[in-house]
Amino acid sequence: MATQADLDRLVSLEPGFPFVSVYLDLGPQARASRSYETLLRKRFAELGRLLDEDPQKEGAYWKAVKQVWDYVHNGMPAAARGVAMFVAPHLELFEAFPVSQRFETEVVLNERAAVRPLAHVVEKHEHYLVAEVSADHAAIYMVHLRGPDAVSKLAQVDTEVPGKTHRGGFSGWSQKRFQLHRADHVHMHMKKVAEALVGLDAQYAASGMILLGLDQNVAELRRVLPAALAKKIMAEAHSPSGDGKNPLLKRVLPLIKMDAAIGGASTLARIYEELERGGLAASGADAVTAAMAQGRVDILVIGENFKGKGYRCEQCDAVLTVPAADDRCLYCGGSVVSAELGEVLVEMAEKGGATVEIAPASDLLDRLGGIAALLRY
Ligand SMILES: [Zn+2]
Repeated sequence: MATQADLDRLVSLEPGFPFVSVYLDLGPQARASRSYETLLRKRFAELGRLLDEDPQKEGAYWKAVKQVWDYVHNGMPAAARGVAMFVAPHLELFEAFPVSQRFETEVVLNERAAVRPLAHVVEKHEHYLVAEVSADHAAIYMVHLRGPDAVSKLAQVDTEVPGKTHRGGFSGWSQKRFQLHRADHVHMHMKKVAEALVGLDAQYAASGMILLGLDQNVAELRRVLPAALAKKIMAEAHSPSGDGKNPLLKRVLPLIKMDAAIGGASTLARIYEELERGGLAASGADAVTAAMAQGRVDILVIGENFKGKGYRCEQCDAVLTVPAADDRCLYCGGSVVSAELGEVLVEMAEKGGATVEIAPASDLLDRLGGIAALLRY
């Protein structure tokens, strides 16, 4: 995923010719037909012909082209809907940014990185810093709702803090003095966490920040955060660590659903369009569940209040909205247990690399049955 810091870096690179910028449309149709490859081949040839007077530049250009093809054939993440590549032979630079929005496929040959389409995506992209904090430990994550990879761990801060209670052996220490000593350490720890957050925010320009932890720890961290960063706090959850990526995501999602709602609305509009023309979308619990089972869901949009009755097969893990007779799985005949459908679908989406968007109640969402999806194929 590209950040504001990436953009800043790209535009400040030393200019030199050739600098090749490539954008690809990796939407479902483009992927299926590989139309981006055809376009690339054509465009590369056209641009190459412009350089055949200058063997040195031409050589550098075809080297850059080869790097692009290597990436296209070997490195492209399956979940990306678009990718931006920047290749500068004079800097030995090759960088690729897979994103969850589509680009128009194009190649730009210049002395500098052509970043405008990518900048457009970065501006729209919402990503959040999440700090899970305890008195002696902190883990900092980036959560992006529309990125190919929803949660990534960025940093961890550990500080040795003396235990909470005096266990004896500190005969020279009064209980009170011991507690002061501990408080100093916790304070120091929080300062380290704040410093790490400041650094990461400078790098990633987070849209917002969420603090998770026990009351006293969150309050302590808040006290030492610089004002500019404290302004980004959009939610706090006063409870112990979510422990690991998926539980973390589940706890954080509702906290940022208001922000997600903006994206959710536009995805819903796209889904509606697709449905109208019989395209790549599904709506309603039954159709979405079936599409999910087939691994076809790209973006799952689920109403914030969605609840549905579902069944999960204990044998093959299939999710059903209606079991066969005798509470048996339709696929394998194993026994099924009932489950909250929304929860199960979100979990499956995460496992399958689909993006999840939580949408606020709306007429459109109601008409679509409270749950809908954009499909990969
Ligand atoms: Zn089964």
